[in-house]
Amino acid sequence: MSGTMTDTIILIAPFAGWLTPLEAVPDAVFAERMMGDGFAIDPIEGLLRAPAAGEILSVPASAHAVTLRLDNGAELLLHIGLDTVGLGGRGFTAKVTAGQRVRAGDPLIAFDLDAVAEAAKALITPVILASEGYVLTLEATGRLVEAGANVARIARVEPRETTRGESIERFERDVIVDAAHGIHARPAARIAAALRPFVAEVAIVTGTARANARSTVALLGLGVGSGASVQIAGIGTDARAAVDAVAALILSGLGEQGSTALTAPAIRSQGPVCASPGLAIGQALQLRAADQDVPEDGAGAAAERVGLDAALAQISGQLAGARGAAAEIAEAHRALLDDPELIHAAGEQIAAGRSAAFAWRAASAQAMTAIRATGDALLMERVADLKDLERQVVAALLGTPGAGVPALSPSTVLIAEDLLPSQFLALDAANLAGICTAAGGPTSHVAILAASAGIPMLVAAGEGVLAIVDGTPLILDADAAALIIEPGAAALSEASERLSATRDRRARDAAEAHEPCRMADGTRIEIFANLGSVTDAAAAVAAGAEGCGLLRTEFLFLERETAPDEEEQRETYSRIAATLGDRPLIVRTLDIGGDKPVPYLPMGAEENPALGLRGVRLSLARPDLMRLQLRAILRGVPAAQCRIMLPMIADLGDYRPIRALLAEVQAELGIADPVQLGVMIETPAAAMLAGQVAREADFLSIGTNDLTQYTLAADRGNAAVSQRIDALHPAVLRLIRLVGEGAQQAGRWAGVCGGLASDPLAAPILIGLGITELSATPAAIPGLKAAVRRLDMNACVALAGKACDAASPAEVRALAREALI
Ligand code: PEP
Ligand code: MG
Repeated sequence: MSGTMTDTIILIAPFAGWLTPLEAVPDAVFAERMMGDGFAIDPIEGLLRAPAAGEILSVPASAHAVTLRLDNGAELLLHIGLDTVGLGGRGFTAKVTAGQRVRAGDPLIAFDLDAVAEAAKALITPVILASEGYVLTLEATGRLVEAGANVARIARVEPRETTRGESIERFERDVIVDAAHGIHARPAARIAAALRPFVAEVAIVTGTARANARSTVALLGLGVGSGASVQIAGIGTDARAAVDAVAALILSGLGEQGSTALTAPAIRSQGPVCASPGLAIGQALQLRAADQDVPEDGAGAAAERVGLDAALAQISGQLAGARGAAAEIAEAHRALLDDPELIHAAGEQIAAGRSAAFAWRAASAQAMTAIRATGDALLMERVADLKDLERQVVAALLGTPGAGVPALSPSTVLIAEDLLPSQFLALDAANLAGICTAAGGPTSHVAILAASAGIPMLVAAGEGVLAIVDGTPLILDADAAALIIEPGAAALSEASERLSATRDRRARDAAEAHEPCRMADGTRIEIFANLGSVTDAAAAVAAGAEGCGLLRTEFLFLERETAPDEEEQRETYSRIAATLGDRPLIVRTLDIGGDKPVPYLPMGAEENPALGLRGVRLSLARPDLMRLQLRAILRGVPAAQCRIMLPMIADLGDYRPIRALLAEVQAELGIADPVQLGVMIETPAAAMLAGQVAREADFLSIGTNDLTQYTLAADRGNAAVSQRIDALHPAVLRLIRLVGEGAQQAGRWAGVCGGLASDPLAAPILIGLGITELSATPAAIPGLKAAVRRLDMNACVALAGKACDAASPAEVRALAREALI
């Protein structure tokens, strides 16, 4: 580091614990020094002390962090644990208030080490140097330190001369930007990243406009297009090297060469994909969350600043979890959250007495205006990014995630980038004719919710649909995977004829839906329903379901901040059981993780969540949660009606411990009647071992959504591979055949509760492979029963054999269509 160091201050360990470099903190916001340089300590005691003398700047109401100005002017942030803001102050007691002077070693915050350790993601405590113009030098890390031990030094860097007497330098270079689309969001983020190792101030200059090169927002405001000539101007001890680094990056094509990634849709898709069948005629409405009201006045600059930092860190942390194609977008968004100009503009508003939410909105609005002023169509996409981030930051500050779902007028076709299950649940289903998302996959959980509500849905339609103006007439033909914009009179009348023919057929199917389901040759096939709510249970009974083949218990507890306790779970299960009357109820234990995170169970970020701690794996890791749920199920559902099912098992090693736990819980509750414990077959491993598993498990039910994604190695929520996700793939069918055979040999039944069960085209094949229970979405039940009644077992077995020998899902579908004619 160059520059003259003055006013050096020694930092002592604020508590006893394990001293580590920031890179060891499992949160990118800290580890990547987005907030500043520093170090971290994993505490072994519950009292945070001042690492040096200074003045307390702020302590948030949640008392999980404190900021302090040292006597050399440097500001420090001490943040106890990760994601501890969410604890709302539980377990923390502030020992100081803003404005108070402290000496090194004075107590700042007392905390309950065990309680916080249990509730938080981690206890590791980053100590961050939050001011520019200082340098932090860290003592040896990777060791246990006592409270009060010297751990680091902070020195002010005098920006006049270096210790070697080198004077500050100015350096400029002109370059032509020939990257295909000029300096857009990702290139801008790359420029800012390239400057991280340097201290020089660097600007990009075009004509009379000048932008801080470390600021994505400022760079976007320049509107530099391809072919433009820009000057890179640096000032600082390492100005030449910094300018050269930026020039080299620009001359090498800004990392965009040979690709149109910048302008390509966020998630490339090959066209819309049907996620929930049906036809809708209606008017477009883009899902743009309404702006929430924010208070203009703040509660003190220090508190608002800490609040803003926490909100930015929270959103940035969430974005860090993005995977696949979404990760690149998330990276550009994270750069915006870290943008010095935006943060500076918000800081000025906060200093002037505004609330953090007001300040962030104002700073974002300023940046959006600058970008709009460039008049560049491509840059407009960044305006949408800023707006999206603004909403998320404001929602985090106000503690209202998910707010802002619009009211719908009748026959709305909702269009969105993507939709969260919680957003779907907040929509008024009565007025929702259909949904079309630019991204997403056909077996994502929101698709399942749409299918169970009988709402046609297209996914992976591409970014183009986001430009459709509100009120535009649309035909959403999910069966044909098509969205027709402003249809002509002929198309409209053809669609309304089909709609009324469909309604007539549905009325006929519904009239017979309450009879038990037998094939034409008399073979009994049970048609059950998949449920995710008490309302679904009523709909399922009305639709003729003979039982519930899959109660997705995690759906019952999605839209909430705290975990449901035993009594609340018991109550919900018991209401569903009562709604089903004496029909069997298969309760699936919590399937959290993967694409179904819940806010009340913070789980460490996983590189591959779909291959991580989800389903039964989480239950095995948290037997306390499993025990609580088993108790609630057994107390809520009469033993004769109750069947319990485990998601995501790989082999008997996942089954046996839960079987033992269930026996313990039954004994505890004095329930002597046997309770069936079955498994879902969702992994290729479980399918291959189905015969073995069936000798111990009471029943097998195939989750074709997951089985397909794991067999075909194609993420069920990723639009880029959604065309590959077809459960009628011969590879998946061969695994299903193993399950059918394995169950039959062990004298157990095998069913299907994944999305494939709702597809009437699949029914003859599944039945031919030995499946005797289909658990479908309630809306599909009358049609499915009608289809099964027309089938003959010998024909199904023959068709299933051919399907397993086919080379592609398309071939399988063609065979099935032919057989059904
Ligand atoms: C499945 O994977 O097919 C299934 C039924 O479980 P979920 O969709 O809830 O993951
Ligand atoms: Mg599953």
